[in-house]
Amino acid sequence: MYDKDIIYQRMLRYRMKGRVQKDAALARETSFQIGGPADILFFPENIAEAVRVLKLCRRERIPLLLLGNGTNVLVRDGGVRGVVMKLGGGLCELRRERDRIFAGAGASLADAARFALEQGLAGLEFACGIPGSVGGAVCMNAGAYGSEMRDVVFRSVFLDREGNVGLLDSLGHDFGYRKSRFQEGGSVILETEFLLAPGRPDEIAGRIAEYQARREASQPLDAPSAGSVFRRPAAEGLYVGPMIEACGMKGAAVGGAMVSEKHAGFIINRGGATAADVLELIRRVRAKVRERFSVDLETEIRVVGIAAEAQAV
Ligand SMILES: Cc1cc2nc3c(=O)[nH]c(=O)nc-3n(C[C@H](O)[C@H](O)[C@H](O)COP(=O)(O)OP(=O)(O)OC[C@H]3O[C@@H](n4cnc5c(N)ncnc54)[C@H](O)[C@@H]3O)c2cc1C
Repeated sequence: MYDKDIIYQRMLRYRMKGRVQKDAALARETSFQIGGPADILFFPENIAEAVRVLKLCRRERIPLLLLGNGTNVLVRDGGVRGVVMKLGGGLCELRRERDRIFAGAGASLADAARFALEQGLAGLEFACGIPGSVGGAVCMNAGAYGSEMRDVVFRSVFLDREGNVGLLDSLGHDFGYRKSRFQEGGSVILETEFLLAPGRPDEIAGRIAEYQARREASQPLDAPSAGSVFRRPAAEGLYVGPMIEACGMKGAAVGGAMVSEKHAGFIINRGGATAADVLELIRRVRAKVRERFSVDLETEIRVVGIAAEAQAV
């Protein structure tokens, strides 16, 4: 068992450029605006800092959790034990070489898509409205409007569990529907190379505007959420939002958590929601859908951390 004060002091002594915080509120780092504190939150600014802390965690058996923009996670109310790492500084840079964009995994996906537009490169338009980071999007094989990361990722540079730098081609990511090998945890995506195609900037911008309009018309973008809560069912013709709506669950609420009136596949934080509220609402939605459609909805959002009661023990 590690002592977080000792680990925190040790990390400060490393004199790294990246910020280190103890007992850091994770609600501030997630789009749901929910969740207890991280023992330690660290923002490495370069590969050497990420390697150093990954190795420290491995040596001292400290759990390490990667966080991107926190737009697909629900942090439980007791927070996260160990170190939460969120890439910053030089790990957020974007550059172009020929038809490729090299994106630091900490960069926002929207910035990467806008950069591709400025460079007259097509293929990332679908990603412009997905609010995650490049690393989070690759880990989740994020997608929209018929495209997903798998279609544009050429390769990624990553750190393995031992802190060695590796290079993976697209196939090596084991992409599946909202899945990749990085969901097993322990490795860190550092940079992803997108293979795009030359395109006319006005046409690329037109597609981005069209997707954005569709998103604004259908999603509750004005309320904190983590996007679609559930994965699309495997069976043809079944859609999560309409199924939940058919169960009469639109607007259903537990505490501050509510099934969105605009899109029943989203749960929003209408103010003061706890992770326990969200999890109970998820349980109720799943039970109703199972009863009516005999379908077990699986969550797409990643639930991390420990429950509040566990913290008090
Ligand atoms: C309003 C809204 C709309 C959304 N629309 C869509 C959509 O259209 N399509 C879609 O697919 N998703 C959508 N999402 C969900 C979410 O934005 C995506 O899944 C996004 O890719 C998550 O990225 P993130 O950086 O926020 O990851 P996080 O939520 O921070 O993390 C997600 C997972 O990635 C891991 N991770 C993050 N960074 C790294 C890294 N560098 N190395 C290794 N693992 C890492 C984390 O450990 C975690 O397991 C939406 C969310 C919201 C709030």
